[in-house]
Amino acid sequence: MTIENFNFAGKKAIVRVDFNVPLNENGEITDDTRIRGALPTLKKIIADGGAVIIMSHMGKPKGKVNPKLSLGQIKDAVTDALGVPVTFAPDCAKAAEAAAELKMGEALLLENLRYYPEEEGKPVGIDKEDPVYDEAKKAMKESQKEFAKTLASYADCYVMDAFGTAHRKHASTAVIADYFDADNKMLGYLMEKEVAAVDAVLGNIKRPFIAIMGGSKVSSKIGIIENLLGKVDKIILCGGMTYTFAKAHGGNVGKSICEIDKLDVALGVEELAKKNGVELVLAPDAIIGDDFSNDANQKVAPATDIPEGWEGLDAGPEAQKKFAEAIKGCKTILWNGPAGVFEFDNFCAGSRAIGNAIAEATAEGAFSLIGGGDSVACVNKFGLADKVSYISTGGGALLEAIEGKILPGIAAIKG
Ligand code: AMP
Repeated sequence: MTIENFNFAGKKAIVRVDFNVPLNENGEITDDTRIRGALPTLKKIIADGGAVIIMSHMGKPKGKVNPKLSLGQIKDAVTDALGVPVTFAPDCAKAAEAAAELKMGEALLLENLRYYPEEEGKPVGIDKEDPVYDEAKKAMKESQKEFAKTLASYADCYVMDAFGTAHRKHASTAVIADYFDADNKMLGYLMEKEVAAVDAVLGNIKRPFIAIMGGSKVSSKIGIIENLLGKVDKIILCGGMTYTFAKAHGGNVGKSICEIDKLDVALGVEELAKKNGVELVLAPDAIIGDDFSNDANQKVAPATDIPEGWEGLDAGPEAQKKFAEAIKGCKTILWNGPAGVFEFDNFCAGSRAIGNAIAEATAEGAFSLIGGGDSVACVNKFGLADKVSYISTGGGALLEAIEGKILPGIAAIKG
């Protein structure tokens, strides 16, 4: 079933959205992109004459109630965005009555799904090495089914629209789909859009294809980097990863972020790039600071020769030039992860140079896909959001989809 063809009139739809929005210390939303992203789906249900039960996680409460991560904090914002009355159910697993009372044209917002360990389906507080872990996991999988069944019982149909968590086989993103027949479950508009963007990249790769991978660590991205090395023509590895590569070549990296136990991984990446004929672009120089702060003293140094007491916080001017040259003329561009500590205005030049080069290549006809919270924040910070082809709401989900993995949240609907 597709959302476009489904008539929600007189139906209650339970919709998994990703309302894991950033909040400040006063519980105010600092970026409502994710709420806006889900609106087309939610509004279609209401406009058809249906009622909507909205469910999401927020943060990582690890199976426990944590008022700082309560979705109650965003109820007013959801009400304003939807323009219909929204009731809040303070316990997502005990919302049967509220769901039954829900009137057509109205919405019910459930409390954070991850207050229950059943949502993620992993035993809490038991170490993976513990001999009882496997038993506990099996039991948890059973209670996860019960939890999903309870959520399903609130509604007539199910819509999956949380791309950000579609790579997780959680109760609300996948297991719940088992309790609806094929005619009563579907992907939402946001999911459809995200899937189409990934298909645009993978289905018809226009070359040269470049991936720009940044962020803090090589270890958290090694799987996708190795995978991309089988697909791309060029890859830029930047951000904190720079210094693991520099160290692997015997360089001095001062107090830069560096994964000392991943030097062989870095060398392995270089070898694989060579074997696959992929041009690997690393930063030759860095903007270094004497403190991890925006106001640190700064100077430029070779990425492999950073003095003691200093750390690489951004790509240097040579690196910025090299990155821009590598991006110029590419026809398919994937960007995930900043080139430096872009949150500090004094150390965001490298990320800005990448953003500008992507915008220029896009103007010349490239398809550019930006994914992962930090790169999206970069693009927004530099005012480039309308100069790139597509901004994904997914980080991990986007990368897994690009890897060619079938996301559980999609498989649960499409089989
Ligand atoms: P990730 O979550 O791995 O994508 O990393 C994103 C974070 O990496 C951002 O918050 C950046 O501030 C940080 N980052 C990028 N470059 C560096 C660097 N050279 N040193 C420390 N952190 C960095």
